[in-house]
This record gives sequence, C-alpha cells and structure tokens, in this order.
Amino acid sequence: MNLDKLKTTDGIDVAGKRVIVRADLNVPVKDGKVTDATRLERVLPGVKALADRGAKVIVISHFGRPKNGPEADLSLRPIADAMQQLLGRQIAFGPDCIGEQAQATVGALKNGDVALLENLRFHKGEEKNDPKFAEELAKLGDIFVGDAFSCAHRAHASTEGLTNFLPSFAGPLLMEEINALRTALEIPQRPTAAVVGGAKVSTKIPVLTNLVAKVDKLIIGGGMANTFLQASGVMVGKSLAEPEFHATARDIMTEAKQKGCEIILPVDAVIAREFKEGAANEVVSVDEVPFDAMILDVGPKSVARTTDVLAASKTLLWNGPLGAFEISPFGEGTFALARAAAQLTKAGKLVSVAGGGDTVAALNAAGVTDDFTYVSTAGGAFLEWLEGRELPGIAALTREKVH
Ligand code: AMP
Repeated sequence: MNLDKLKTTDGIDVAGKRVIVRADLNVPVKDGKVTDATRLERVLPGVKALADRGAKVIVISHFGRPKNGPEADLSLRPIADAMQQLLGRQIAFGPDCIGEQAQATVGALKNGDVALLENLRFHKGEEKNDPKFAEELAKLGDIFVGDAFSCAHRAHASTEGLTNFLPSFAGPLLMEEINALRTALEIPQRPTAAVVGGAKVSTKIPVLTNLVAKVDKLIIGGGMANTFLQASGVMVGKSLAEPEFHATARDIMTEAKQKGCEIILPVDAVIAREFKEGAANEVVSVDEVPFDAMILDVGPKSVARTTDVLAASKTLLWNGPLGAFEISPFGEGTFALARAAAQLTKAGKLVSVAGGGDTVAALNAAGVTDDFTYVSTAGGAFLEWLEGRELPGIAALTREKVH
C-alpha cells in the first residue's frame, strides 16, 4: 500500500458533480438524540467544503449492527437532524441508500446541497462487499470520497467495493488521521516511545510484535503487564494475567532485545483485594504483591520512570490504559502519565498520538485530549494500523483504476 498514491479532491472541479462521501456517522444516540457529536463535528467540515465548492454531496454511512434488514432504532434519520443543526443548512434525507428512493433524493439535489442516505447495513450487500450493491451505490454519484478511517479496516461495499466503480479520493479527515499515524509510526522523529496498556496480552500480540520492531521504548502497563511480569518470574497474586501467554510474552521480550527496543514494565503497583470503586488499596513494589491481592494500577515510581522516558522521547504512540481507570482511584497512573505527555506536547517537545476507545475515554477523564497532537477515535482500524496491517478501505483508494 503506497500511501503517497492517495489523492484528494483538491484541485478537482466538483461543481455540479454528485460526490458520494463515505463517513462514519455511527455516533451514540439516545431517545432519538445524538449524545456525543464528536465524530460528526470532525467529518462535517469536509462535507461542507465540498458543498461550498458547488458539489451535490451524498453522505453514506452505516449505523449499528442491523441483523436482518431495516430496523427503526437503527435509522440514520436522527443523525440528519443533528447534521442540519451543526451545518446550519437543510439536509435531504433519503429513506433508502440505493434504488428509486435514493435516486429521487439525489435527483432533487441542487449544486451545494447535502443529502444523507439511510443506513447502508439495512442491505446485506454492504458487509458482504457485494459488487452488485456497490454498483447500485455507484449509480448515485460521479465521484467517491472515502472519509471514514474508522471503517477502513473493513472491506465493505461502501469502503472498498465502490472504488471499483467510481473515481475515488481520500477525504480530509481520513488524510488527517493517516498523516498523524504516519508521523508517529512510519516517519517519526526519534527516539520514539509507545505505551501499550489494556486488559490482555492475547488481544494485542500483533500490536506488540509490530511495535517492538518500530519503536525505541515500549512501555507496557495495565493487565497485560502482569503477564509479562509473571513470565519474568514475578508473582502477581490474584491479578488479571494470562499464564498461557508466558511464552508469547518471552518471545516478544527476546524480539525486542534483538530489534534494539527497550521494554519497560511497571516497578511498583497499586494493589487491592476487591475490584470495586474505592476499594482499600496500597502501593507495593511489583515483587511484593501478596498472594490474595491484585494489581489494579501502576504505582508512582513507575509513573515517574515512564515520565522520564517520555521526556527523553520525541514521539509517543499510546494505546490502552495503564490500570483499571474506570474505577476510582485506579485511574491515577494512567491520568498522571497522560498529563505528563500532554505537558510535553504543549511545550513542543513531544509529538503525541493516541487512539482506541478506552484510551480516548481515559484521556477525556484526565482532561488532556485537546493537548495531545492527535487523538484517533477509530478503534479497530487504529489497532490494525498499529499491527502494521493493510487497511482495505485505504489500500483501495491508493490503487489506480480505470473507470
Ligand atoms: P483493552 O480493551 O484491552 O484496551 O483493555 C481496557 C481495559 O483494561 C479497561 O477496561 C481497564 O479497566 C482494564 N485494565 C487495565 N489494567 C487492568 C488491571 N491491572 N486489572 C484489570 N483490568 C485492567
């Protein structure tokens, strides 16, 4: 996948053209109202720019996981209302994304108008990447703009298939995301550090394997650090750990040594005997965890040590919390390191890129999201990028095709 081959619509005359934009409008909705419009706020400037250039913009997206055709609860209609408010202009809503109704909605658009079509996943062809469905979608547009990085790890009709039928471009949000990730992983300023936390080693083996080959320091925290500690002969009591992955952890440590990547594990921990809010807790060295206690956060010495590592780094990539951050007070280690990274970033000393659902929630809780260089809201796509995998929705946009 040659990312330099990605083309944007800059310099293309889109006036009067029907431009299909694949966005990710899968936002939280409660009682018909959008409760967190972050994803909308990020993608709408690109939609508005196309409309301002005279395009007829047709926005398509999935929403939730409909099982068998249309479901009233999973209609995109409430999103059209939110878009209308945020954009301050009329949004035409198409009650289907293909066929006569969609054609009628699109046919009525004037230059500079915006339409949102109903949930793509109401049709089975979307997730199956059925060429017939992609061709039906393609009939609605003259060109295609992929602007849903968070969906790019899926080869669906609207992310991959469509590019076989229409001249295809990368949207501004997708470019922003790719550029941020390239800056942190592909062409970073060194030394580089990665923080990988979260519950289990088993879900992040490819991420860890890819990162040890790419970064200078790998800081491991969260439940997965327990497996690494255990694999190094440390007793972690009742902590969350995966003994069946000791060999994997050891392989990763060996690989890191060979590649010149230093793995940094916690040296102290906040332990408790109950996994609940406000549980009695204490700080101990990692080799002093009692048999009936569990590690729920990294301790202050670990935070100080990892802060020093960040201070000596120029680039940081972060995925996964260092402790059970949702349960007070076991978020303190994650929050403290997040604040340190934010400060270094604000001082212009660190490029910090973070991503993944839990990580975004942790950074929000620490109040530092805006101080990071870039925070990706993509979950699966962000992780697959960290794994070094080719994302089909992006690879498709880099291929030369004759239409
Ligand atoms: P992941 O989805 O793999 O990124 O894992 C995130 C989850 O890991 C969060 O819900 C945290 O509460 C949990 N977590 C992090 N550290 C620990 C720990 N030491 N013990 C138990 N759960 C943890």
